[in-house]
Amino acid sequence: MDARPNSPEARDIRYHLHAYTNARKHQETGPLVIEKGDGVYVEDIAGNRYIEAMAGLWSVAVGFSEKRLVEAATRQMSKLPFYHDFGSKAHSPLIDLAEKLVQMAPVPMSKAYFTNSGSEANDTAIKMIWYRSNALGQPARKKIISRKRGYHGVTIAAASLTGLPNNHLSFDLPIANILHTSTPHHWRDAEPGESEEQFSSRLADDLEKLVLAEGPETIAAFIGEPIMGAGGVVVPPAGYWEKIQAVLSKYDILLVADEVICGFGRTGEMFGSQTFGIKPDIMVLSKQISSSYLPISALIINDKVFEPIADESARIGTFGHGFTGGGHPVAAAVALENIKLIEERDLVGNARKVGAHLQARLRKLASHPLVGEVRGVGLIAAVELVADKASKAPWGKPAALGALVNGLLQQNGVISRNMGDAIAFCPPLIITEAQVDALVDAFERSLDAAL
Ligand code: PLP
Repeated sequence: MDARPNSPEARDIRYHLHAYTNARKHQETGPLVIEKGDGVYVEDIAGNRYIEAMAGLWSVAVGFSEKRLVEAATRQMSKLPFYHDFGSKAHSPLIDLAEKLVQMAPVPMSKAYFTNSGSEANDTAIKMIWYRSNALGQPARKKIISRKRGYHGVTIAAASLTGLPNNHLSFDLPIANILHTSTPHHWRDAEPGESEEQFSSRLADDLEKLVLAEGPETIAAFIGEPIMGAGGVVVPPAGYWEKIQAVLSKYDILLVADEVICGFGRTGEMFGSQTFGIKPDIMVLSKQISSSYLPISALIINDKVFEPIADESARIGTFGHGFTGGGHPVAAAVALENIKLIEERDLVGNARKVGAHLQARLRKLASHPLVGEVRGVGLIAAVELVADKASKAPWGKPAALGALVNGLLQQNGVISRNMGDAIAFCPPLIITEAQVDALVDAFERSLDAAL
């Protein structure tokens, strides 16, 4: 770290409260200041180059130097730098994007609605669901079930959906009407000898018990990520989504697929819903929709959701919900060009092919003394570190080993992220097999250095 009193690091410490940080500790350790990006690489201000193995925040599908996105933004910025979709207003990038998303959806969908972030989109989903219940004359149907370890964002309602303690503690969350059911984490939570299918059946039973205990007439929706991301890249066990959906259908509960990480190719299919046979009523999209070059998020909703909302808005006079920047024309133009690139370059196919290579190389590390489980699909993976393979016990305090290996990885030229003791990998979808080899080689060196 540059110790000069006016270095970027010193000014960061002086002026900047970071997202998701131990703000006291940051005063001592300071930032890693990233200056530029190129393909799957980023470079810090000291000129050190890293493979960005998290694609930023699970998001930069096309890499860090895609000129076509810059050009799309510039074109739109020159033509119409801002407009909105309040009331009867519209603009072409948003109409084109709405059409594209509805047509791309893997299940029949009706309309797209635009927001700025994943959190806003999930808040919007909750509001749509509550509005719909009122429209249907079912005002008691307001409870939403999410899962422990699920991640859905940080605004008040989205953070309530999130099932991670750090998003609730001292924020006085969760709010009312949000319930959390069990995590589909077979390796961690299955009984001895319990197969994946048996475990999935048990989790579906847990869900049904919760629904019955609360009263089915009070449950409006279930929300889940096809693969849990920030909760530690938890891949659902065999049969999980089929069994969960059977319970939801039985009690007429809406299903929201939070595709904020899985959407646009991450799992080797365009959407995680396709990988796991999920049939959502609402899909929530963000991040790879624009490769996060600009913030934009969207909900795609089916007629079961749209029609009652339309009725209620006619009764009241308006669907009183919208964000100034929601569906911003420059962000929408970038998203359209980004989706075009994902299709033209078959980045979904690349995620499947290079993802298979990543998964195979990581699975070879399963015998390493510090590796408890390797999990993942396509270009999303996690390696869970343990001190003792048999008991799955952590090394010292939970997350200590994860933080250590993550730090070593950074020294070895790879930016990753540890969620507790799980080290996540979620690189840009453009990554090559050779770059995956460099990433996994650096990871192996880091694991050995931690022994
Ligand atoms: N949903 C999922 C699955 C996410 O992974 C995230 C962010 O990581 C969000 C929602 C929240 O998105 P944002 O950070 O844009 O509010």
